[in-house]
Amino acid sequence: MAASSVLVVEDTDEIRELVSTVLGRAGMDVRAVASGAECMAEVRRDPPDLIVLDLGLPDTDGTELCRQIRAETPAYVLMLTARAEEVDLLIGLAVGADGYMAKPFSPRELVARVQAMLRFPRTAPAAAPEAAAADERVRRLAELEVDEETREVRVDGAVVDLTRTEFDLLAALAARPGRVLQRETLLREVWDTDWEGNLRLVEAHMSNLRRKLVAAGLQTPEIRTVRGVGYRLVAA
Ligand code: CA
Repeated sequence: MAASSVLVVEDTDEIRELVSTVLGRAGMDVRAVASGAECMAEVRRDPPDLIVLDLGLPDTDGTELCRQIRAETPAYVLMLTARAEEVDLLIGLAVGADGYMAKPFSPRELVARVQAMLRFPRTAPAAAPEAAAADERVRRLAELEVDEETREVRVDGAVVDLTRTEFDLLAALAARPGRVLQRETLLREVWDTDWEGNLRLVEAHMSNLRRKLVAAGLQTPEIRTVRGVGYRLVAA
């Protein structure tokens, strides 16, 4: 299997080199650039599987760049921010990154986050698998369809545009309808981390996911919050 390709976009030399080095040591094929313009040129030349994106770049607003990346490639985006407080702001803006890390971050945590995101293939297979095999990968719950093969979610047959993280959260819930999934379980399954500082990240992504499903017209099943514990998917 080919190594996963990662594009690092960061204008601070030391951080760019640190990130490139730790990801390279973890066996990834790493490219690095220092500006938004170079980032988009690389994305168009050879789309990576994942992009580590610095929010504060000299030539482009990181949130705008993230939207541009989203429009052109299904690559995962892990955004680096200068301050922890920026993470809340960005999640609120729904810029569409799959994860956020505030500087300074632990290189080990960064590698773990990147590896967790890369567990799933970047693109859906071009050829449709046999119907029987495909059916096992599609979960139908009332108006909701979660297709793990194509990583598509449909409400009454219409595709809902979700980020990869939102899809992973919904797929985890849909695999066990009616059961309560603890936030810690979701952290382990979706982000591959036990770090409790990330619990609010689960809440923020869940709230974006819910908002999108409601906007798509989904009435049943619905994602219910079990206060202080976690979430479950239930027929309304
Ligand atoms: Ca910067």
